[in-house]
Amino acid sequence: MQLHNYWLTTVEMPKTDVARALPETADVAVIGAGFTGLSAARTLAKKGAKVVVLEGETIGWGASSRNGGMVLTGMKLGVNKLISMYGQERTRKMYAASLASIDCVEQIVGEEKIACDFSRCGHLEVACKQAHFDDYARQVEVIAREFSHELKIVQRHELSSEIGSGIYFGGMVDEISVGVNPARYVAGLGAAALRAGASVFEQTRVQTIGREARQGTQGWKLSTSCGALWARDVFVGTSGYTGRATPGLQTKIIPIGSYIITTEVLPDALARELSPRNRMIYDSKNYIYYYRLTPDNRMLFGGRAAFFPESGDSIRKSAEILRLGMIDVYPQLRNTKVEFVWGGTLDFAFDIMPHAGQMDGMYYAVGYAGHGVAMATYQGQLMALQIAGEKPDNPFDGIPFPGAPLGLYNGRPWFLPLAGAYYKFLDWVS
Ligand SMILES: Cc1cc2nc3c(=O)[nH]c(=O)nc-3n(C[C@H](O)[C@H](O)[C@H](O)COP(=O)(O)OP(=O)(O)OC[C@H]3O[C@@H](n4cnc5c(N)ncnc54)[C@H](O)[C@@H]3O)c2cc1C
Repeated sequence: MQLHNYWLTTVEMPKTDVARALPETADVAVIGAGFTGLSAARTLAKKGAKVVVLEGETIGWGASSRNGGMVLTGMKLGVNKLISMYGQERTRKMYAASLASIDCVEQIVGEEKIACDFSRCGHLEVACKQAHFDDYARQVEVIAREFSHELKIVQRHELSSEIGSGIYFGGMVDEISVGVNPARYVAGLGAAALRAGASVFEQTRVQTIGREARQGTQGWKLSTSCGALWARDVFVGTSGYTGRATPGLQTKIIPIGSYIITTEVLPDALARELSPRNRMIYDSKNYIYYYRLTPDNRMLFGGRAAFFPESGDSIRKSAEILRLGMIDVYPQLRNTKVEFVWGGTLDFAFDIMPHAGQMDGMYYAVGYAGHGVAMATYQGQLMALQIAGEKPDNPFDGIPFPGAPLGLYNGRPWFLPLAGAYYKFLDWVS
């Protein structure tokens, strides 16, 4: 078994000239070369802005190349919870944004001819308890009534047409969701941003950011590991890897580890037995499992096996936890080899919502909570339009952005083991 991201074996990332010096100035400095930053850079460059993307590692190095490739409708929180938090009107707009975000990915993939195995295969949520299944009916009804969007309930006795597992109490299907190869998608987005005229500087970590006027124009001086840059505007797209360069944002984001294994390539018949309709699948627990077939017929199985962000140790431990979880779901895979394991870091806000807007004068979009493939792309695009002076309707801009209760958080998530235990307890009792 390799401690390596399987998706990266399927792609070559775009090349940049690492020896090149940073320019003195830019219209917009974008921090982070994942879906958020690259999508913003592409849009801004197409509008004629001089855009410089600063990436501490390499293009797509963060969650954007490491995820499950599930491009999902909806948000992490259920619709009833959203309505109770934001009311019907704003929730309607948020749900519409989640659908628009998938169309946005489809449009970019089409326009930029990105070969990333984009497929409208739909997603299947499976219920781990009868009470979870009962709640599906309520959700389907609200989503149809409030958002005119149709989901399908799958009764337990019909579930074998969707999944080759007997452990669930039923399911809920949304045909609109999509599967992609995320590493190919982020590579394509990077290439598109470069083609549009954005400059991407890899191995260039932003260390500090301070206000500085230049020739009468208000702006920002960014100190990086490769020198300084002045920019009129700054857009932060650092997600779960948000650090000390943006301390205000760092204290609003909880970095949470998520881990994935992939098996060896499965025979066709077995792959079809496990997932007859090739859905993106996830379960109804807080300690969620998510899984799918890869385009070359491996089972990709992920979960929050450890809450801490990835390290060699947490990745190795997660491999066995996930393998046992996979066998619980699919005993057919008992003797199947696991070939790859890797981890990545998710960005959770304290209210588990995406957030975008301006903080301390800088633009940002973060907080995708494991629903970021489409939403990060979309928020990058919307925020780019806003920076360019347009007024896109963004229902996540301006919603309250809570920090830790009592302010007990300085960016080091000391409470993750407690949170992990709490969610395990919730899965047990509810
Ligand atoms: C294991 C895993 C599975 C997931 N599965 C799914 C899924 O199936 N579906 C889904 O919708 N979402 C999923 N997600 C979430 C999704 O991948 C993310 O929400 C999305 O990729 C966020 O994109 P981003 O561009 O905002 O951040 P990232 O891709 O994380 O990029 C942030 C970048 O910022 C850079 N950076 C940070 N600080 C600095 C600095 N100071 N200077 C320069 N650069 C800096 C980092 O190096 C990094 O490359 C998953 C995430 C993980 C980890």
